[in-house]
Parts: sequence; structure tokens; C-alpha cells
Amino acid sequence: MMNSLADKDRHYIWHPFTQMKEWIEEEPLIIESGEGAILRDVHGNEYIDANSSIWTNLHGHRHPKITAAIKAQLDRIAHSSFLGLSSVPAIVLAEKLVTLAQTTLSPSNARTLSRVFYSDDGSTAMEVAIKMALQYWQHSKQRHRTKFVAFSDAYHGDTLGAVSVGGIDLFHAAYKPLTFEVIRATRLSLLQKLMEEQHDEIAAVCIEPLIQGAGGMKLWERGLLAELRRLCDSFGVLLIADEVMTGFGRTGTMFACEQEQVVPDLMALAKGLTGGYLPLAATLTTEEIFNAFLGDYAEFKTFFHGHSYTGNQLGCAAALANLQIFEEERTLEKLKPKCEHLRAGLEHCRNLPHVGDVRCIGFIGAVELFTDAATKQPFPLTDRIGIKVCNEMRKRGVLTRPLGNTTVVMPPYCITDEQLDRVLNVLAESIRAVVG
Ligand SMILES: *Cc1c(COP(=O)(O)O)cnc(C)c1O
Repeated sequence: MMNSLADKDRHYIWHPFTQMKEWIEEEPLIIESGEGAILRDVHGNEYIDANSSIWTNLHGHRHPKITAAIKAQLDRIAHSSFLGLSSVPAIVLAEKLVTLAQTTLSPSNARTLSRVFYSDDGSTAMEVAIKMALQYWQHSKQRHRTKFVAFSDAYHGDTLGAVSVGGIDLFHAAYKPLTFEVIRATRLSLLQKLMEEQHDEIAAVCIEPLIQGAGGMKLWERGLLAELRRLCDSFGVLLIADEVMTGFGRTGTMFACEQEQVVPDLMALAKGLTGGYLPLAATLTTEEIFNAFLGDYAEFKTFFHGHSYTGNQLGCAAALANLQIFEEERTLEKLKPKCEHLRAGLEHCRNLPHVGDVRCIGFIGAVELFTDAATKQPFPLTDRIGIKVCNEMRKRGVLTRPLGNTTVVMPPYCITDEQLDRVLNVLAESIRAVVG
């Protein structure tokens, strides 16, 4: 007899990115409610959501404005097809996203993002960007441009196109037979040479601007993004910016590209788009790319892509409320001192045993442990160091997930100073508990 929810979970569910053999031996944490930066389980235990529910939540759980917007939309309609029909919140949101992209990214730039294509999550936003880039070249009489460049350790999602451009062997190697070939870039200097030789065949370069997320919260050198933009321009290659994690303030500015005055040709948005409430994504692109798809019906230049839930009305309503909060509550301004607080707190972790690297940008923090901090000799993955640290944190009421030996701290922007101090203290205690 399966009585408890925990038993039923272990019996019926297959969790993402989870070794289920371990899972079914442990007590699952079942979340029932939340408020602000707090998650509450079915037993009434409270936890701080220190990774913003896998990097999606911005203004906290049950924010009254987003909740109200979804409820109001629900009283009108939840969803109608975006194939052959339009909808009020999707139109209003598209205008807002274009305005936002233009005011933040391109006040003094000739290239501007002016079109919005909706999809459901980060992976599909990247699939859309990749397919658009390829088809753009077909319509532009440059059919030889079919190759994509992506970086080592890149993460762009879990659908096959996104896996193809992904560069994390642990996640992606098994699916190689199903993926298309990608030119793997390690350093920008090598990319320069590569572009000189092969630019005629290259459709686009994909990058996570300023910081690689799932690859381990690895920061790019300052200036690399702008340099990559120049390189793409000089060889006529498109630039795809995957802002799925970085978008909506995570790096301290509305978009990461802003910090290097870069306007990509295609930009993928998802995670924070609805403030972490509903799955919705958008791929923004230029009028130049959009125009290449225009033609008589019989030319079949149509972008043949769409999902059942494209432009979901509830999602668009949530996204509109999310953007409204940024304006009304001056979110980015208020975030600045919190970013400093996070950075200063994490700097203290450098003195802890085995901490070999502390990385921070905006409201993203990461602490990486090594067997030998001085020589940066990594712990073998089989030591499960990151998992152990996060388990210790969970015991102390703080939830996050590791990336290998790196522990990630990226709470919702609404987290209070006291809660943030608690997260930082718990992180330090947990590192000591595991390796101290
Ligand atoms: C999470 C993520 C994705 C994939 O988004 P999903 O919504 O999980 O499909 C793509 N790119 C980056 C940079 C991400 O962090």
C-alpha cells in the first residue's frame, strides 16, 4: 500500500537530471507553498530558495502582482492558439519586449531587435534561433552557410538542436549520434582563424553572454562578447545570444549583452521572462532576418515552426506583470546593494578549506571546491562534493543545486539581507561540514 505522497513520488515519477536509484532511497522534499524567497514543504518546514527554483524566480513566490495578473487573465481565457490567431497579452508583451531590448541594448546601435517569436522554454527558444539562422541564409541565397559554432562547456538546453550546440560531455555525449555537427570553439583567438578559413560555411555563433551557466558558472573575460560581435560582423556571421539564464537582471543589468553594448542578431529569453511563474520563452530578432522570410505563399519561405502553447496567454500575462514590477519597484536599482552583499559574502568563503575559486556577477554567485585549492586539482565527480555540500545546506534550511564541484547561490531578487546572510552562513558551515 502506498499511503504517503513520498511513496507515490518514488513509485510513479521520473525526475529530471536525477539518479533515480539514489532518489528512491531518500526522502523526497515535497514543496507545497512558498512566499518571497521561502519554500515550504508538506510538513511545514521552511527553506530559502537559494537558486530561485532553478534560476527562474525573480521577485519571489506569490508576488501579489503576478498572482493577480494570472488570476485576471484566467477570468478571461487561459489559452488560445497562436497559429492563425493572435491574443491581447501576447501583443502587448511583444511591444514591451521590443521596447525593452531597444532601450537597453541599442540606444546607439544600428542593429535592433524588433520581432518576437514565442515558444515554451529556453531549449525551444534556442531551437527557434538556430532554425531561423539556418533558414535565413537559405532565403538569402547563401545555402552554404549551414554550420554553427558553439563553445566548450556551453549549455543551451536539452532538446536535440540545443544539445547539438551544447558542450558539456557529461550531459551531451550520449546523444551525439542524434545531433548535428558543431564547430567547437575554445578560445576567441582560435575562432578568429577558424572564421578566416570557414566563414562561408558558418551560419551563426551561439554564446551565453558574460557567463556560462550550467557549464559551471564560468565567467567570460570582459570584452570577449564585444570582440565576438566584431568578429561575426567582419565575416558576416550571425550572433545568437542565449540570455535564457542571464536575461532580466541576473547579471545586474536587464540583459547581459548590455554590459558590452552588444546587439545580437537573435536573442533567446526564457527562465525569468514570467518571473518564474509559467513556462514561456521568446526569441527576439532583427527586421533584416524577419524580412528574409517574407515572400509569396508559393515560395514557401514561411518559418515552419510552432508549438501548441505558443504565445500562451497566461504566460504572457505573467510576463507583463513581471516587467511591470521591474518598473514600479525599481528592481534593478534595489538589486545593486544586494549584488554587493552577495559578492562580499562569497569573498569570505575564499578562506574556507578547499575553496579554490569564487565567481560572482550580478546576483549570481558560485563557489568551487578543489582537492587542493592552491593547484586547483579538481575533486573527482564521483566524490559528489557539490551534492554533499547542497545536502548539508538543505539540512540547514537552504536549497540550491550544485554544478559538479561548484555550489551555486542565486536567490530571488526579493531576498532580504537577513535571509541572504543566512544563505551565506549556511554555505560556509556546509562546506566545512563536508571538507573541513
Ligand atoms: C536553462 C537554460 C537553457 C534551457 O532552458 P529550459 O527552459 O530549461 O529549456 C538554455 N540556455 C541557458 C543558458 C540556460 O541556462
